[in-house]
Amino acid sequence: MRIALAGLQHETNTFAPGLTEAEDFLAPGGWPKQSRGDEIRTVLAGTSVPMAGALRVLNETDVTATPLLWTMALPSGRVRHAAFEALADEIAGRLQDQLPVDGLFLELHGAMATTEDDDAEGALLEKLRALVGPDLPIVVALDLHTNLSARMVAAADQMFAYLTYPHIDMADTGARAMQRLLEFVQGAPRPAKAFRQMPYLLPLVAQGTGSSPVDGLYRTAAARSGVDTMITLGFPLADVPDAGPALVVYAENQDVADAAADETLQQWTQAEPHFQARLCTAAQGVAQAMQSGKPPVVIADVQDNPGGGGSNDTTGLLRALIEAKATGALMVHIADGAAAKSAVDAGVGAVLDIDVGGRTDPGTGAPVPGPWRVAAVGDGQFTGVGPMYAGASIEMGPVALLEQQGVRVIVAEKRMQASEPALIHHLGLDPAELPILCVKSSVHFRGAYEKMASQIILVAAPGRVTMDLASLKYTRSRRRPASA
Ligand SMILES: [Zn+2]
Repeated sequence: MRIALAGLQHETNTFAPGLTEAEDFLAPGGWPKQSRGDEIRTVLAGTSVPMAGALRVLNETDVTATPLLWTMALPSGRVRHAAFEALADEIAGRLQDQLPVDGLFLELHGAMATTEDDDAEGALLEKLRALVGPDLPIVVALDLHTNLSARMVAAADQMFAYLTYPHIDMADTGARAMQRLLEFVQGAPRPAKAFRQMPYLLPLVAQGTGSSPVDGLYRTAAARSGVDTMITLGFPLADVPDAGPALVVYAENQDVADAAADETLQQWTQAEPHFQARLCTAAQGVAQAMQSGKPPVVIADVQDNPGGGGSNDTTGLLRALIEAKATGALMVHIADGAAAKSAVDAGVGAVLDIDVGGRTDPGTGAPVPGPWRVAAVGDGQFTGVGPMYAGASIEMGPVALLEQQGVRVIVAEKRMQASEPALIHHLGLDPAELPILCVKSSVHFRGAYEKMASQIILVAAPGRVTMDLASLKYTRSRRRPASA
């Protein structure tokens, strides 16, 4: 018995400038590199991505795993359609070469949009379904931020989304999906499906699965017996028709699926006024943090989250720290390859008259001028220890710790969401001992820092991962921002 596996992930922020190109899929910061065939087993071994969990399940059976292609790009602007088509064609071609197989496992993000198609995963799934015919079981592991479409639902026998945000169950989601695929392969009946979309868009900071009302809504859905409910919360920075939260109920017949889907949709619709996105300005957040005597206060720069397509180099919060003389505070991190290289070349102890950050988006804070003292440097190569990247070999390019008036900032060549403490350890610091730890992240930072933080403050410095969805000009989305 043989099962084919493929993975293609991109979360597209259609409001972000620029296109995502084929080369952006080769070696995304913090994530495994693009890999093919049996090489995938080695590249993904010990990592937290869904296909690693799926392969783990297959290793315990006598089923043969046939990995085809695994690739991911960091969240960014629309994918150049030709780049998407080349990857989709390669997956289809490699699958065709392996036919006949007994089942197909896919790891997809679910919120990829190209320059020509707002629903790239729908297109890929239709293509693969057409290739294998109606009977071959297909299961899909999806990100919680999927913008779910009817064609995705139709083409897959069952889909499984992460249950957590921060995403600490990515590999487990792949494992769950693979277990169900094995049941289908062994003859379990395919379920009936009922697909519903919630009538609103949710900002990222309102989507944490540890916060109300999301936690209670997830518990209610999981407790319903006799059905499997998949919920996706959507990626709102995408002006596409299917952006927003959605659900699919899988059940033994259509009536049961429809009844459960209608009831769950009603619960989510009634919850709309309770989704909160409380934010303060960077100056207010820094002032509040400086009043705390207990380390670390974590300040999240939620609108410059590279995991949502942020530039990772806005300077609003860094400037607020310097203006307030927040001695001992650390900003993680500013993606500024030129500054990192200058610091590594000059060495520890050097004082540099260079600008830091503020290079990408006008209006999100000007570069912060020197003098900057180089406090530590590194090669940016380390192994992840946090709940999202544990075991992953991370390559950030040259990195440095810079200091000005007691305020410290990590600069690195690559973008990466601040959910990985190993970057801080790499430069000789312990996050638990910092008076103020500033992170460029909306929610994922909580996986690494929520337990150690004495306080968490969310600030809205200018950045392209806006939480104020009403400020965006949607023209294609069928849904409106939630009114809290
Ligand atoms: Zn996600």
